[in-house]
Parts: sequence; C-alpha cells; structure tokens
Amino acid sequence: MGERKFKTEVKQLLDLMINSLYSNKDIFLRELVANAADAIDKARFGSLTDPAQVRKWEIRVIPDKTGKTLVISDNGIGMSEAEVIENIGTIAKSGTKAFLAALEEKKESAAPEMIGQFGVGFYSAFMVADKVELETRKAGEESGVRWISDGKDSYEIGKCDRAEIGTSVRLFLKGDAETYLENWKLSDIIRKYSDFIEYPIILPSVKVNDDKTETVTDTVVNSQKAIWLRKSSEITEEEYQSFYSHLSKMNAGKYLKAIHLSAEGVTEFKALLFLPESVPFNIFMPELQKKGLALYVKRVFITDECAELVPDYLRFLRGVVDSSDLPLNVSREILQQNPLLGKIQKAIVTKILAELKKMQENEPEAYAKFFKEFGKILKEGMHTDVGNQEKLQHLAMYETLNNEPGKLISLDDYVKAMKPDQKDIYFITGDSRKNVESNPALELCRSKGYDVLLMIDPIEEWVMNSNFQFDKKLFKSVAKGELELDGADKEAAEKKIEEAKGKYQALTDYLVKHFDAKLSEVRFTARLTKSPACLVGTDSSISPYMEKLFKAMNQSFPQTKRVLELNCDHPLIAAMAQLVGKEESAGRLDKFADLLMDQALLSEGSAIDDPSAFTARVTDLMTEALAGK
Ligand code: ADP
Repeated sequence: MGERKFKTEVKQLLDLMINSLYSNKDIFLRELVANAADAIDKARFGSLTDPAQVRKWEIRVIPDKTGKTLVISDNGIGMSEAEVIENIGTIAKSGTKAFLAALEEKKESAAPEMIGQFGVGFYSAFMVADKVELETRKAGEESGVRWISDGKDSYEIGKCDRAEIGTSVRLFLKGDAETYLENWKLSDIIRKYSDFIEYPIILPSVKVNDDKTETVTDTVVNSQKAIWLRKSSEITEEEYQSFYSHLSKMNAGKYLKAIHLSAEGVTEFKALLFLPESVPFNIFMPELQKKGLALYVKRVFITDECAELVPDYLRFLRGVVDSSDLPLNVSREILQQNPLLGKIQKAIVTKILAELKKMQENEPEAYAKFFKEFGKILKEGMHTDVGNQEKLQHLAMYETLNNEPGKLISLDDYVKAMKPDQKDIYFITGDSRKNVESNPALELCRSKGYDVLLMIDPIEEWVMNSNFQFDKKLFKSVAKGELELDGADKEAAEKKIEEAKGKYQALTDYLVKHFDAKLSEVRFTARLTKSPACLVGTDSSISPYMEKLFKAMNQSFPQTKRVLELNCDHPLIAAMAQLVGKEESAGRLDKFADLLMDQALLSEGSAIDDPSAFTARVTDLMTEALAGK
C-alpha cells in the first residue's frame, strides 16, 4: 500500500466534514447509497450492449455491531486504481476553490446546502466515521483496489484480493455514531431518503437461535417504485423532496412545485419535473451546473444530464423523463442526437409555461417570488424561443416607475394602466433602481404619469434589442432616440424645439465643438421638464450600462458617441447662451459646459471622467458666487 496526500481542497473539505457542519448526519447514508445506485446505473447501462455483464443488481447495507463497522456495498461499475485516485483523492470538479472561498465568507450558516450543491457526497462518510476503507473492482481489471483513510492528511491505496465486481465502503464508526448500527435506524433513513432507488437496498438482520447459531435474513427496505410512475396523490411531500434532492444533489434546497407530465401520441413519455424554490449557488457558474434532466428509457437509467430535454432558459428545471419509445441499445451519444428528444423538449416547455401561467393567475405571490429568483433566466427565452415569445411575454414581470420597489407587474398590467394618449411601452435600463430612477430622461414620462419598466439587468437590454413588441405596441427606451409625442403635445413640443434651436444656435454650435470627441449631436428636447440637460443614446447604440459591462468583461469597445439633449425652458441654458462669444467669459463658459456634462453623467448614474476636476470647478463656482461675482 502506498501513501498519498490529499489535494489541499480535499483536505479543507474533509476538515469541514469532520468538524461537521451538518446538523443532520443521517445524510451520509443517502450519499453513499446514491453513489452505489449511480454505479449500478452505469454498469446496467453497459450491460445493455454487453449481456455478459448482466447481474442481479443490488445494494447492501451491512452493520456489524461487534466490529462497530457499517458496510455499504454495490455490484455496480467499480473503479480502477486510477479512477479511485481521480475520484476520491481529488475533487475533479472545477470551482472547488471558489466554493471554499464562498464557504469561508458565509461561514456555517450557508454551508450545508452549499456542500450539497457541490456533490462532495463520498466525504460525508467522515461525519460518522473516523476511518473509511473502500474496496472496489472494475470489470476487466486484474485485481481489486483498496483505499483507506482517516480523513486527515492522506490516504493509502494499493491492490487487494477481491473477486466481485463492484464497490464496498466500510465505515469505522465514531463513538457517537453507533446508532448507525441499529437496523431500525438504518431502515428509517433508507426509507426516508432512498425509497425510490430502483435497486433493492438490502439490510440483513441477524437472529441468534437457541442453539447459539445465527440466522441471517435479508430484508429489502426500499419500495423501489420509480416515483415518476406513481400517482401524484399517492406521493408525500417528503418523498418529492428527497427525490428532488437526489436529482439536484442539493441537500438543503427545496422544491417549489412538482409537475407530472404524461405524454401520449407523437411520443410517449412520463416526466416528473421540479421548479426549485431558489437559485442554486452555482447557477451563474456554468461549468458547475448540472444541465438538463435525467433521462430513462423504459425505466433504464441513461444519463442524469440530458441537456437536450430543456432549453437554456429553463435550465433551472430539475426532473426526470422516462421515454417509452427511444431505442435502448445504442450509445448515449447517439441517443442524445435522437430527434425525439426535441419533441419531448417541446412538450416539456409547453407544460411548464402553462403551469407557470396557472401559478401567475392563481398564486400571484408565489409566482412573484419564483420570478424574482428565476425571472432573469426565463426572460432569455423571449429572445431565444421565438415560438413561445408571446407566452413568455405574458409571464414576464417588471418593477416599474409607478410601483413601489420590489413589486413586480406583468406587461398585461402595464398595458392596462397605460394613459389614453400613450402609444408605446416605455422602459429604461441601468444597474440599479436608484440609478435609473434619478435619470433625467424620465422627466417627461413622470410629468405625464406614464409608467416606465425599470430594467436593471443586462439581459433585459439584450432582449429588448430586437424591435420588440407586445400587444402591437413598441417598446421604447426613454433614454434612446428622439422622443415621440402625440397630437397637440407633439405640435407644441415641436414648435418649442424649433424656437429654441433658432434662439440658441450659437450655444449648440459651441457645445458641439467643445465636446467634439464625446458627442454625436447636441439638440433640444421635450424629454426634460426639470433638469437642464441629459445624455441619451441613438436608437441603435448600446446603453452606457452595457458598455460598462462589456468593458468589465475586457471586451474592447469603441467609445459610443452620445447625444446631449437640452431643456428648451431651462434658465441655465438661457444664461449660458448669454456667455457665448464673449471673449472675457470663454473660460467660464468652458467650465459651465464641463459641469453641465458631468451633471448629466452623474444624474443617469454614470461615472464622470475626472472627479477631482469636477470638484475643483464646483469649488471655484461656489467661491465666485459667494464673493458676489
Ligand atoms: P458525486 O457522487 O457527487 O460525483 P462523490 O464524492 O460522492 O461525488 O463521488 C465521487 C466519484 O467517485 C463519483 O462521481 C464516482 O465516479 C466515484 N464513486 C463514488 N462512489 C462510487 C461507487 N460506489 N462505485 C463507483 N464509483 C463511485
């Protein structure tokens, strides 16, 4: 046997496990049984094309009261020596460091569910054991492999005699964990967490006879009924929850809704789908995400990550699909190209969107909570799934200018509340409600009472970029393009703008020259009612917020030139116009112009180019004002 050190990350995790963050130690058994079932799934899948591998699949849980050990064994796929080192001595999954860092930060409160999400199942054995011995043999390997560790710094690994294919994990139980030697306790845990496992989980019970001989009886503890084939009325919430945890490898996360789907016709399948209650820690770390649903064909496990079964914008769905008409005896890769999967996906999408609609109508509070968690992801679909765009639009919810923070309304509600003279649906994008709310570009909408959708996520701007319509109404950014008004308002505004243009021609010429590099245009607007000026984009330009994001992602980006809009009625504009062309006030005018620009930037929540120059200018002006100049 050779000794090897654990990778640092493993050691850190083991420390966490041993100083157990879980209050619920029972789950170690669920984790080891799940590993055993996964191993059998793999072996059984292999046996579809290699009948010599078929055996009577089973998992055994064997307590030994004398030796104070508990063995969990399976006759699944087994591991080669290299695989043991790879799987058990290292954490192959990327992002473990990030996980540990996050864990450090959040400390114990968030730890259990986070550990679960990262699927460090095997190590949970060290919550109840001070030594773990794993023996395994894979078909085709010359001998078995033995791995032993006390969960501290290192493990030993070497060859061993083992005839049977499969894996046994022997736990040397800690003094305070001896309750896991009791049959009642073990069968309790198995029924609670692993009842749906489709292989028999066998617990032997030993009876000492009068003549001191022992009789061992095997008892199958789990019902083995695939939960997705059962009637929902016969499934308890607890059963749903433990199946959901099994699927999503999330220990503490809860499911929000369990949805059964039974399809007949073009393709026949049964599915059990879960909407999670909250976003898992890693949903925006794509490399850590489980994608898609588990796929079974006629109750035979194929894969636990069939990405083809759900579109990206429903990637938070968990569940299982059991198809009756996919072919069984082909490789997983070929199977995943089968066009039937696309048809199943379509049926799943239809079902989920209908369920969400129902929830939106009947349980608005639950839906709002759901949408706060997953709305961002769901909204991607408005862009990517043209066929369902309309349905998704009805499902989409927004914060708006006229509703208090935190309250979400649907587009239907928005349209219902539109003013009689309002033609378009208005929106504004930015990085926080506070910042967008202070944007002067909103002034006209405010003064007219128009509501404005507040889009404070980059995804929203991306979705809106496609000439988007709802209920035959266009979506218009209040901070882009020229603002169109209707009827009498329009004429009055146009007249005012024409007048200002003529009156202040010299000022606009000056500003265009002064800000040559930054602006594409300087013009008068009806958008503003209070502020002297604001910055807007052209119809096709991206917002300063998007620009900031692109830059943050290190994407090179040409500086977009923006439009400076001036308020026709503002006294500051009239006063500045007075200074144009006067030799002695040129310095002052430059200063005012720069301040006007900085003010426009600040009020939309953008950063100003040179804060210290800004402060110096303001100080100068304050001094001058107080000195009575
Ligand atoms: P997870 O199950 O989430 O992948 P684990 O730490 O529980 O994480 O297991 C790590 C890996 O070790 C598994 O992915 C699997 O490849 C292997 N493994 C664990 N237990 C067994 C087993 N009983 N039989 C075969 N392989 C196993």
